[in-house]
Amino acid sequence: MQLDATLSWEQQSLQLSALVDSGADENFLDSNLVSQAGIPVEVLPAPLNAHALNGELLARVSHRTVPLSLHLSVTPPPTVRQRNPCTWVGPVSPAERTRRMQAGVCLYCGQNGHYITSCPVRPKEQARQ
Ligand SMILES: [Zn+2]
Repeated sequence: MQLDATLSWEQQSLQLSALVDSGADENFLDSNLVSQAGIPVEVLPAPLNAHALNGELLARVSHRTVPLSLHLSVTPPPTVRQRNPCTWVGPVSPAERTRRMQAGVCLYCGQNGHYITSCPVRPKEQARQ
């Protein structure tokens, strides 16, 4: 899962995209990112080896950073715009069709005073059927 993140240390911060790997036992940071961002580091007394589950050596960890905080944020999905109110003239439910038949109104638009064959809002191509 990739999330928008803010990495903060001392008085500085950096906006970035973070890949969340739920399988890691520790928090790892790419050394290129650390040097590019100028995050202060110190040499570990003894290097650590990072292994994959199959025992493969992934990386040799030789340094650690000053304490960092990582704030993740999930971008909310775009809100769906409220549609303008409109008269529904499309296919209607069987119940609504029955109601319109019993009320003696147009089956297409639901208005009084005409029937579906002479409906003014019904598209002309469909009216020929
Ligand atoms: Zn009508």
